[in-house]
Amino acid sequence: MKLKTDYQKIINAIYKQIKEEEDLGEIAKYIPELAKVDPNKFGVFLTTIENEEYGIGDCLEKFSIQSIAKVLSLTMAYQTLSGNIWERVGVEPSGNPFNSLVQLETDEGIPRNPFINGGALVICDMLLTQLKNPKQEFLQFIRDISGNPSIHYSEAIAKSEMSAGFRNIAVCNFIKSFGNIINDPNKVLDFYFHMCSIKMNCQELSQTFMFLANSKFRNVKNEPILNLSHAKRINAIMQTCGFYDESGEFSFKVGLPGKSGVGGGIVAVHPGEYTIAVWSPKLNKKGNSYRGMQFLELFTTKTESSIF
Ligand code: GLN
Repeated sequence: MKLKTDYQKIINAIYKQIKEEEDLGEIAKYIPELAKVDPNKFGVFLTTIENEEYGIGDCLEKFSIQSIAKVLSLTMAYQTLSGNIWERVGVEPSGNPFNSLVQLETDEGIPRNPFINGGALVICDMLLTQLKNPKQEFLQFIRDISGNPSIHYSEAIAKSEMSAGFRNIAVCNFIKSFGNIINDPNKVLDFYFHMCSIKMNCQELSQTFMFLANSKFRNVKNEPILNLSHAKRINAIMQTCGFYDESGEFSFKVGLPGKSGVGGGIVAVHPGEYTIAVWSPKLNKKGNSYRGMQFLELFTTKTESSIF
C-alpha cells in the first residue's frame, strides 16, 4: 500500500530551508508598480485533486500574476476558437526571452508560442475579436473557474505597465505589420496589460489551475473547462514553453508543467494529483522566481512526484 504523502510537513521543511539561504534574485523593476512590492514575501499553497489544502507563509496575500494569466487567456481562446488558434501562433519553445523581437522577423509575425509576449498578444487580439466586453468577460471567466468573485484587475499595475511598456508596444506593432494583429494595437495592449495585472494569492492560483489537474473539474456553473485533449495540449505547452528560455531547466529540475510571471509567481500542475503555487518576488536572470524555482525543485524531489 502506498503511504499518504505528508505534504504539510514537506512544505514546511523546504520553506524553512530556503528561507535560511540567501535569495539571489532581483525584483522586476521595469514595471514601476511591481518594484514597490516587498521582496521578502514568500508563500506556497498546494491543493490536491481530493481538495485537501496545504499552505505556508504569505500564501493568502494577493500579488500580480503577470504572465501566469497567459494560460487562462489561452484556455478561454481555446474554448471558443478551438484549433483555429494554431494558424496564428506556434507551439514551439522559443529559446529566447519572453519579450524578444528577433524571431518575429524571420517567422513573419507568427509568434513561436502563446506564452511569450508576442503569442499572448495575438491571443488577446483573438479574444478582442470574439468577445463583446473582453475585459469583463475574461475576468468573469476566471471568477467562474475559481469560484471566487473577489478576483480583480489592478488598474494601478496595468497603467504602470502601459506607461513603460515600450517593448510590448513594439512587439504588438511589429506583429501588426505582418497582419497577425487584426484589432487596434492600443486596444490589444490595453487588454494584455490588464490581463497581466490580475491579482491573486497562492491559494486562489492553485485552486484556479485545478482544471488542468483534475479531468472531472467543473466551474461554479457546473460546466467543464476543456476536454481531455485540450487540457493535455495546454499542459504540454506549459511543460515546453512555460518558463521561456528556462523551460528546459524547469522541466529538468522540477518535471511538471508550470507557468511563471514577473510578479514572482509560479504555478505547477501534476495532472491527477495536485496543483501548487509559489510566490517570491525576486527573479533570476531569466525572469522566473528564484525561490519559486528552488522550492519546486526540492518539492518534486522530496515527494518523488514529477510526471516523469
Ligand atoms: N506583463 C509582463 C510583460 O509583458 C509579463 C511578462 C512576464 O510575466 N514574464 O512584460
